[in-house]
Amino acid sequence: MRKRIPLIAGNWKMYKTGQEAVDMARRLVQLISDVTETEVMIAPAFTALAPVSEVLKESPVALGAQNMHWEKEGAYTGEISASMLISAGCKYVIIGHSERRQYFGETDGTVNKKLGTAIQSDLIPIVCIGETEEQREAKQTYSVLDKQVTKGLNKYTAESLKKLIIAYEPVWAIGTGKTATPEQAQEAHQFIRGLIEKRFDDKLANSMRILYGGSVKPDNINRLMAMPDIDGALVGGASLDAEAFSKIIKFES
Ligand code: PEP
Repeated sequence: MRKRIPLIAGNWKMYKTGQEAVDMARRLVQLISDVTETEVMIAPAFTALAPVSEVLKESPVALGAQNMHWEKEGAYTGEISASMLISAGCKYVIIGHSERRQYFGETDGTVNKKLGTAIQSDLIPIVCIGETEEQREAKQTYSVLDKQVTKGLNKYTAESLKKLIIAYEPVWAIGTGKTATPEQAQEAHQFIRGLIEKRFDDKLANSMRILYGGSVKPDNINRLMAMPDIDGALVGGASLDAEAFSKIIKFES
């Protein structure tokens, strides 16, 4: 019996036009109509949010955004606010994805601000953390995760973080085809849960869902999900194909 309800989340990154996203969402809803014990979220591009939200209306699949600004509104060309995401039908928001950190200058400080906005707006935050290959090789994985959790979650209370989801995404495994072994992922997840217990309390640590992300595919999801501290997955590449993603959602190879 699982301690926490699993969540499988699809990050569609900068792929799919509105129509392509709608077609894929329709197919996905059909393919997973028999799934009841796993929560599912998809995060298409901003331009596809509103039309995909119409497709998901009568389905259990939730909508998420890939990013968000921390301010309510303002002169921030190219950005999007929490209320815009909510009005487009979003329930979740991904914060601090490693591609945002790597290419768009996001830091633990911006993650911290965005997290506060998500909490205030009642969007479920999925905060991404993870080490690079060099950091793993230099045996800095735990210190990197510690810093990302400490700074990213700084100043919030356990009560305010009760909906928070953390995604452990080792940067070296994202889009590379190199998945962390289930044992490596479990070790990192257990460490993160321990950090949450140390910095907050065991109630939050036990209830918090920690997703694994990094080249998740139908042929590795089962072994990952067998680990006690892995509560689901954040899936990039394999979430772009309805058949493959539905197999991941069903933990089928
Ligand atoms: C991601 O984008 O969060 C991700 C894990 O990508 P991929 O599954 O393609 O490695």
